[in-house]
Amino acid sequence: MSQTTERTFAIIKPDAVAAGCTGRILARIEQEGFRIRAMRQTHLSKREAEGFYAVHRERPFFDSLTDFMSSGPCVVLALEAPDAIRKWRDLMGATDPARAAEGTLRKEFGSSIERNATHGSDAPETAAFELAYFFRGMEL
Ligand code: GDP
Repeated sequence: MSQTTERTFAIIKPDAVAAGCTGRILARIEQEGFRIRAMRQTHLSKREAEGFYAVHRERPFFDSLTDFMSSGPCVVLALEAPDAIRKWRDLMGATDPARAAEGTLRKEFGSSIERNATHGSDAPETAAFELAYFFRGMEL
C-alpha cells in the first residue's frame, strides 16, 4: 500500500439493492478508480444497524434510519484509493439526493434524504471503526 493510499468503508444501502442498482454502482466504483478490497452482501438486524449508527442515537431520525437499514440486504465494501474517504464522499454527493450534484450516486440512485442509496465514512477514525465493524483483518 503506497503512502497516499487510503481505505474507506462504503455501503450500497437496501433501497439501491432492492431497486437492482448494485451492479451499476459497483461499475461506477471501479470506473472512478477505487480498488474493491472486500465486499459482502448482508442483511443487518435492527440491533446491528443501531450499533453501526450509534453516533446518531440522539437524532430524531435514528429509529426510522435503523428500520430502513435493516429492511433488506445491503452490500458492504472496503474501498481503496488515494484520498479514498474524500473521493468516495464526492462520488456519493450530498446527503439529500435533491441537493446532490449531477453525476453523483445519490443524485442518480437516491430517492430521499434517508433512502439515499449509499453510505461512506466521513473521517479516518470513522473509517477504521466502520471497516472493523464489518470486516476481519484477514479479509482486507
Ligand atoms: P451522511 O454522512 O451523508 O450519510 O449523513 P449523516 O451522517 O448526517 O446521516 C446518516 C444517514 O442518516 C444519512 O445517510 C441518511 O440515510 C440518514 N439521514 C440523514 N439526515 C436525515 C434526516 O434529516 N431524516 C432522515 N429520515 N434520515 C436522515
